[in-house]
Amino acid sequence: MSLRESDLKQEPACTINRLGNYLWSDLPDENKWADCVHCGMCLESCPTYEQTGQEQHSPRGRVHLIKSVAEGKLEVNEAFADPVFACLDCRACTTACPADVDVGGLIEEARGQIRQALPLTGWKGAVSRFFLEGVFPHPSRLHLLSSLLKFYQKSGLQKVARKTRLINIMPKHLVEMEAILPKVKQPVRKKYKHAGVIKAKGETRRTVALLTGCVMDVMFSDINEATINVLTRNGNDVIIPQNQTCCGALHVHAGDRETGRKLAKQNIEAFKDVDRVIVNAAGCGCMLKEYPELFREDPKWREKAEKFSSKVEDISKYLHDTGYEKPKAEIKTRITYHDACHLAHGQGVRQEPRDILLSIPGVEMVHMPNADRCCGSAGIYNITHPEMAEAVLQSKMQNVPEDVEIISMGNPGCMLQMAMGVLKYGRNQKIVHTVQLLDWAYQKEDSLKEVK
Ligand code: SF4
Ligand code: SF4
Repeated sequence: MSLRESDLKQEPACTINRLGNYLWSDLPDENKWADCVHCGMCLESCPTYEQTGQEQHSPRGRVHLIKSVAEGKLEVNEAFADPVFACLDCRACTTACPADVDVGGLIEEARGQIRQALPLTGWKGAVSRFFLEGVFPHPSRLHLLSSLLKFYQKSGLQKVARKTRLINIMPKHLVEMEAILPKVKQPVRKKYKHAGVIKAKGETRRTVALLTGCVMDVMFSDINEATINVLTRNGNDVIIPQNQTCCGALHVHAGDRETGRKLAKQNIEAFKDVDRVIVNAAGCGCMLKEYPELFREDPKWREKAEKFSSKVEDISKYLHDTGYEKPKAEIKTRITYHDACHLAHGQGVRQEPRDILLSIPGVEMVHMPNADRCCGSAGIYNITHPEMAEAVLQSKMQNVPEDVEIISMGNPGCMLQMAMGVLKYGRNQKIVHTVQLLDWAYQKEDSLKEVK
């Protein structure tokens, strides 16, 4: 099954599933707010409440607003949309909540209603459609974007644009993002297009499939490469299904659940013949695990989505659980670890990446206070809400220990945002994915063997 242009068009609105003032299909799940007892234990965990001190920008406030629309007390209008879209979808409140209220899931469902009732228009609508519908779901366009960025960096254009300050014609936050653009390399999906199976080094113990991601493979293909190296070194044959697509997280976060469902269906089909789907981007992994939520009204696809999501595993958890070769070469460095929200709060993966980092000889781990506090990246939040994202980043950077050389984490969005934090606040730290450091240790070990 492949995604066609026509699949991306919005289906006509359905008005039969009315719930209070929610008039559109794919209603928010009443069970998600039923358990909220308004205790407020989630308030302190919420970065937007920390910044504003306003109840409507807290998890409890948002749950109350969403419920009020279902009760017909509030309309789906801009005043409702503002606090719902100002949420970072960081899931810290879900961890804090003693009643397990899935605030993040509820927020996404409410956004789906808002975007059907109030579609984005003007330049915001055009930009959103261009990237969400026109670029991310299409590998060939992503590869073109990767080639353009590579040309921009290698041709000297980047140097000229920076030197002449021509770059400053862009909005401020885009200029800041350009400054932290990683060195773009060939996407692994393109590189291994005809590879079939990338064979394990030595005896094959398992076969896994890799989700290459869209942002990950364009901006951080070296992390995908490191992931393949680490997997094959540990007895895994690796498959990269060529009909896989974007996970849909950015679409679902933006309220476009229909496109999210179409992308989900394509991925479910693309990975149907494998037992394990390995993901190295926390946001994508969390989305893949939550595919069943997109099919609450479609039992057939819900069943398929449940089967699929049970196969999804973050790379750090997979290595930790199945066993991996402990590196022998020393990498003498002081590091700190940032918990990506969608890994810690979204998937409950906290200790595994820390254990992997600590298994590298020479690595000294420095504790980061509030390590699982959002960095402000949150998909495209730092583009849609630059001021709040900046305030959240500032708060995060205050917790990053000064005396470390590396900040490690497991999500590309966080890596870009933290790189921006390092640049803005005059720090001098490298941003490294957990699996990259492990790969470096293996490579060092191999090169030392060659010298002997
Ligand atoms: S979401 Fe959870 S923690 Fe927050 S007020 Fe409701 S029950 Fe309490
Ligand atoms: S998901 Fe994050 S930003 Fe949104 S309400 Fe919960 S804690 Fe606040």
